[in-house]
Amino acid sequence: MRVPFLDLAAQYAPIRSEVESAINAVLDTGAFALGPTVDQFEAEFAEYVGAKHCVGLNSGTSALHLALLAAGVGPGDEVITTPHTWISTSWGISYAGATPVYVDVDRATGNLNPSNVEAAITSRTKVILPVDIYGSPADHAAFEEIARRHDLRLIDDAAQAHGASLNGRPIGSFGFATCWSFYPGKNLGAAGEGGAVVTDDPEVAARIRSLRDHAQVGRHNHVEVGFNARMDGLQGAVLSVKLKYLDDWNDSRRKAAARYEQLFANVDGVVIPSSIPGAEPSWHLFVIRVQERDALAEAFADAGIGSGVHYPTPVHLQPAYAHLGYRPGSFPVAEAFAAKCISLPMFPEITPEQQQHVADVTVHWMERVA
Ligand SMILES: *Cc1c(COP(=O)(O)O)cnc(C)c1O
Repeated sequence: MRVPFLDLAAQYAPIRSEVESAINAVLDTGAFALGPTVDQFEAEFAEYVGAKHCVGLNSGTSALHLALLAAGVGPGDEVITTPHTWISTSWGISYAGATPVYVDVDRATGNLNPSNVEAAITSRTKVILPVDIYGSPADHAAFEEIARRHDLRLIDDAAQAHGASLNGRPIGSFGFATCWSFYPGKNLGAAGEGGAVVTDDPEVAARIRSLRDHAQVGRHNHVEVGFNARMDGLQGAVLSVKLKYLDDWNDSRRKAAARYEQLFANVDGVVIPSSIPGAEPSWHLFVIRVQERDALAEAFADAGIGSGVHYPTPVHLQPAYAHLGYRPGSFPVAEAFAAKCISLPMFPEITPEQQQHVADVTVHWMERVA
């Protein structure tokens, strides 16, 4: 039995005609860069995540970059963030000219650990930037409290957390701003690249709207150095269609996660994912931890099962950040995650039979290595 890691075609098939007519409507109007479909998606997504404003962008990486600029972050500033994430979290900080300051993650969830944050705050710290890794909400209540006490801003990288919530509050409603990606493989994915920032602050939204469109005020009048980071009209149209299905898709992911949890409950040597109390994850990824992860990935490949590693090298050990001077051993918990994590096939359409196959291959492999 073949089990893909992700099956975007299976997701597209049932909504094909709806997506096609939304795309055709854009082709008819010619509103390709921003335009009414982006306006509409921004309004719908802001409401969905419980924020007042949404600014549609060309990627999640741009969302991080522009949100940090809007927070006033620049050269000489420090941003406290997690080493256990996709590289873009740190790109945003670097693009703004600031320095990422890493602290270690929580042993159970892999998310930025609030108890490590305060010791890393200096007079240059401007922002705390956690990630809801794998779609599991970070401890935003704790981060909000630390940010308030030290007069810092909280920006959330929620690129994996569409539809997640914490204590009944949607991810997107915490802190100064929340950054989203609509890269195709995310829980809410465009037909290409896309991203957004949501915020309750009208001035922050206005600044990001300006920055994404060449900082143009009036025509041919550029008030600062701007960017071309606009969302495509076609992506706005596709995202509005897909947003209607997001809760159903997340529901299917939740059921699939519960099935995996059951299948692995009594398997020695497999650590299943966990979240903080009150968290409702989006289950973007289902990540287990095992010894000899690479060998298990090979066993999966031999059995026709797709898997992934998110992420094999923590950001503080990436060559791009060698100049910051971190070393192996700087963040033991994040490094252990990176060494042991393996992402199982997870998508709304995955079947119980496919999940059983994944579990069978895992159990068989565990017995061989034990
Ligand atoms: C996908 C992702 C991003 C970047 O989004 P792009 O749209 O690919 O630029 C940022 N942070 C995290 C945690 C992500 O998973």
